[in-house]
Amino acid sequence: MSAKKKAGKKKAVAKKTAAKRPAAKKAAPKKSVPKRPAPRRPAPKKPAPKPAKRAAKRDIRPKASDVRLSLVPKPVVPDPDPLGPLGAHVSSQGGAALAPERADDIGATGLQLFTKVPNQWKEKEFSAEEVAAYRTALAASGQRWATSHDSYLINLASPDATLRARSLESFTLELKRCNALGLDALVSHPGNFIDERESGIARNADAITEALEAAPGPTRLCMELTAGQGTVIGSTFEEMADLLARIPKHLQHRLGVCLDTCHVFAAGYDLVGDYDGVWARFDDLIGFARLGVLHLNDSLGALGSHKDRHALIGEGCIGDGAFRRIMQDERLRLVPKMLETPKGDDMVSNDRRMLTKLRAFAGA
Ligand SMILES: [Zn+2]
Ligand SMILES: [Zn+2]
Repeated sequence: MSAKKKAGKKKAVAKKTAAKRPAAKKAAPKKSVPKRPAPRRPAPKKPAPKPAKRAAKRDIRPKASDVRLSLVPKPVVPDPDPLGPLGAHVSSQGGAALAPERADDIGATGLQLFTKVPNQWKEKEFSAEEVAAYRTALAASGQRWATSHDSYLINLASPDATLRARSLESFTLELKRCNALGLDALVSHPGNFIDERESGIARNADAITEALEAAPGPTRLCMELTAGQGTVIGSTFEEMADLLARIPKHLQHRLGVCLDTCHVFAAGYDLVGDYDGVWARFDDLIGFARLGVLHLNDSLGALGSHKDRHALIGEGCIGDGAFRRIMQDERLRLVPKMLETPKGDDMVSNDRRMLTKLRAFAGA
């Protein structure tokens, strides 16, 4: 996920892309809208007895009205659903227990969330009540699979001892929160080696090992293939395989990978021109059994651009064709697939459109 980067460049890049596209695409210009509605404070004249609680409640309510106002219908989920879990990253603002309903609202059958504010070091521990509320909400929802995405600040490969220690602590707590909620997966980016690649990979693998040892539980750690920007590790299948191979044998069953279509395309894997070749290399070096989750994002950056800029499905450099193939690929049918595409003007319309489109690609 590259949410932190989206806001800044989105407008400029969206414009650039729009310029290259045929006129038809210009019909729906995307406004650069903040991802979450700004929290509205209670009216100042009435002193509220519990201002914090009221504020939190009001953060949640606009979501419900967004759903009512959306003109885009929810995708129809067939019963039984021939596909594996299909969904998107959804907001957990106001509590993790609110995420399953939000995923229901977009017609998802699986979800991705943050268990804490992803661009802050501030940690969070779930109370027993919060865990119970999440589990109850999940059970009452149509969600069959759930993953977290860890904090953007974590760099387990850092040569800076202080930053690495802080990252390891944060990552371990993230893993513990995921285990507490009973999440199926935790998606995590390999770190930036900064000084020297080989030692960075070793530091990264050691930290992953330490965290897995310190936080036993059901959540599968899925290391995400990266776009290869800067000194980030894990943008080639070889390097990801190398990183995973360094984790001790007794922890291997808790490891998987997350393949983000935008990242691998930007890293140079041509899902458009050499779809079969890319997957053959993936299978050779990493293996389908390791594929814990797919992030379905189109790419604003060109093939090999090393730019992590997500676009709506069919509106980037990858285009509809490769996503149609992914949705029809029997080897990938049951692999959970999550969107991390721009939300647009409200929190549901784009995701509903994308999920409907993906289901249509699958013929489901
Ligand atoms: Zn990510
Ligand atoms: Zn991703």
